[in-house]
Amino acid sequence: MRRRWTVRDLRRDNRSVLLWTLYFGQPCSRQDLSEATGLSPASVSNVIRELIGEGIVLEAGSVDSDGGRPRVLLRINPDYGYVIGVDVGETRVRVELFDLAMTERAKADYPLDPREHGVETIIATILAGLAAVLASSGAPPAAVLGVGVGVPGVVEQGPDVLVHGQTYGWEAVPLHRLLRAGTALPLYIDNGAKTMGQAELWFGNRRGAQHAVVCLIGSGVGASIISHGTTHRGSTSSAGEWGHTTIAAGGRPCRCGSRGCLEAYAGAEAILDRYGPPPLAADQESALAALIEAAPTTPKAAAVLADTAAYLGAGIADLINLFNPETIILGGWAGLLLGQHLLPQIRDAARRHSLKHPYAKTTIELGHLGPDAVALGAATLPIEHFLNGTTTTTTAQKNDRAS
Ligand SMILES: [Zn+2]
Repeated sequence: MRRRWTVRDLRRDNRSVLLWTLYFGQPCSRQDLSEATGLSPASVSNVIRELIGEGIVLEAGSVDSDGGRPRVLLRINPDYGYVIGVDVGETRVRVELFDLAMTERAKADYPLDPREHGVETIIATILAGLAAVLASSGAPPAAVLGVGVGVPGVVEQGPDVLVHGQTYGWEAVPLHRLLRAGTALPLYIDNGAKTMGQAELWFGNRRGAQHAVVCLIGSGVGASIISHGTTHRGSTSSAGEWGHTTIAAGGRPCRCGSRGCLEAYAGAEAILDRYGPPPLAADQESALAALIEAAPTTPKAAAVLADTAAYLGAGIADLINLFNPETIILGGWAGLLLGQHLLPQIRDAARRHSLKHPYAKTTIELGHLGPDAVALGAATLPIEHFLNGTTTTTTAQKNDRAS
């Protein structure tokens, strides 16, 4: 059915176009906005007047223009509202509160035992994190535009957001409903690799890339495939499950139930498992760091890492041959740690396993956003709704604002 456009839609659309343009171009003048959007100077002035009136946009200084009147610069008011990003990883849960300039205002970090992914534990940890960042930032809950949550596994959007985390025993977990019982804040949930992909797309060193693959390597392995500037989701949003593509038919058993998956060789849990006992440290993050540190003097550790680089490189070659990206970005706590030491070997293995032409057109680099990229990307989910004008206010928030 074709939608009938109304004057109200048009106004909302102009507003959204201007907000997106200002968000990524700030600070800029009304004239810059008119040039960038093709909207008339009068339309820009009208919408900006409305946005200034609502406290969303601020006038922030001015610049001289050649011969004419100085141009007033505009920016989004960083304190108009706040967003929260949650990274549910396998080794920790991170909760971070940002203002609209994406400056981090508060952070809570909870290490997890990788064997403990009970739904109740994760829900309780997220809710504790939300309370902690609200308390330490002093941000009023009514000013929080929303909470984005990045989780491992396949996220099925719909009236009941369901998380299918096959590798850690989450079957169709109604995460949205379970969190709703403990918070009134608007909630947006997506796969963590996809939220990290969006962080790279918005704020990374390759922001604006049209064709990229962002690889999230932690205990497990995932990816976000960016095609024509947007995240490729597939028919049920499971696209990008790179960790469960087969790297060795009939190989090592994988946590997903199959054999020979990339994750069964290149995920941190699998790397440590390939090295074997005794454990190098109590937690996975320290154990992988210890393994890397031991490599120069321990042939076994060196061999495990050399194999890891070979498997990762082969997996990356598959991405290059399948998607022809401009760039491949390695992130996630294990990806950053491995990449710092093995990037030349990973690139070399990728070169050996991919077709010459697409390999020559691809860069393989480390993400510059650090291990917080999943949480930062999760926080872009409510920002997206804010810029589109589709932020939902929950009833409890409305009551909060009225009181
Ligand atoms: Zn698997």
